[in-house]
Amino acid sequence: MEILENHLLGQYGTFQIGGLADYFLEAKSVEELKDGLKWAEEKNLPYFVFGMGSNLLFDDAGFRGLVIRVKTSEVEVKGEEIHADAGVLAAVLVMEAAKAELTGLEEWNGLPGTVGGAVFGNAGCFGVEAKDVLKSAEIFVPGEGIKNVDVDYFEYGYRESKLKREPAVVLRAVFGLKKGETSEILVKMNQILKDRAGKQPAGLTTGSFFKNPSPEKPAGMLIDQAGLKGHALGAMQISDQHANFFFNRGGATAADVRGICEFVQEKVEEKFGIKLEPELIFVPVQ
Ligand SMILES: Cc1cc2nc3c(=O)[nH]c(=O)nc-3n(C[C@H](O)[C@H](O)[C@H](O)COP(=O)(O)OP(=O)(O)OC[C@H]3O[C@@H](n4cnc5c(N)ncnc54)[C@H](O)[C@@H]3O)c2cc1C
Repeated sequence: MEILENHLLGQYGTFQIGGLADYFLEAKSVEELKDGLKWAEEKNLPYFVFGMGSNLLFDDAGFRGLVIRVKTSEVEVKGEEIHADAGVLAAVLVMEAAKAELTGLEEWNGLPGTVGGAVFGNAGCFGVEAKDVLKSAEIFVPGEGIKNVDVDYFEYGYRESKLKREPAVVLRAVFGLKKGETSEILVKMNQILKDRAGKQPAGLTTGSFFKNPSPEKPAGMLIDQAGLKGHALGAMQISDQHANFFFNRGGATAADVRGICEFVQEKVEEKFGIKLEPELIFVPVQ
């Protein structure tokens, strides 16, 4: 286990923003991940665990404790189940399912992020959320240790899970799928990728910035109707293609992101009386 000191967080994540972490570990195995958690607990240090960083914002002041990047990568098919480490990329999970002729995860093709991030936030796209495919997980609960829990433990809702209220670290997860035809699975995967490419602009973004207040009132539509599509504030820009996608145009800070977040919240609330809630995780400095 190699713990780095004063490590720049701005090199990770799809926003590429963030200051120095006092301590940083890239955990390449579940054992290393457990050792890192133990190291922080023994030193009484706060810790923060992340995967790909495609749904978070590190602070400009970094993090006063240990940040762990989960880079674990073991994945195994057992019958109609896939057992994956938290660090496995969603893209890899989808490919492994296809190779094993298992259907149920094609909709996640093109979803950025890791298994751990998806389990944490109940990630979902094209109608399939983590809650629909997750069977169980091995987690580390502070003060309690390692537990095997089934999907109900997470009390899932739309981009909501118990882990947002009672933190725990996902170590491994088990997904339940069904036997399918590889050719059909691949056709569906390709279609999903095309649909995504047509809808989502590319760049330094964390995807949907705000949660949709309801299916009838998606955040992007409200932001658009508030006249903010394409609007820029400092180094941050609201996409002119999808108004719920915000971009770092280069050199943006966390303060810039918070600024555009508050600006959009105010404007949308003024016009529609709806307070948009960020989907993005703001990582505290501690
Ligand atoms: C272009 C683009 C498109 C996107 N499209 C979608 C979409 O269609 N649907 C969707 O749901 N999301 C979408 N997202 C958001 C993002 O992909 C998901 O939220 C994803 O699940 C985040 O995974 P991650 O590994 O990057 O998590 P991170 O950003 O690294 O972390 C996010 C949160 O998860 C927690 N976390 C990460 N790993 C663990 C772990 N092992 N144990 C406990 N907590 C953990 C972190 O602490 C943090 O609070 C998109 C993002 C981008 C950039």
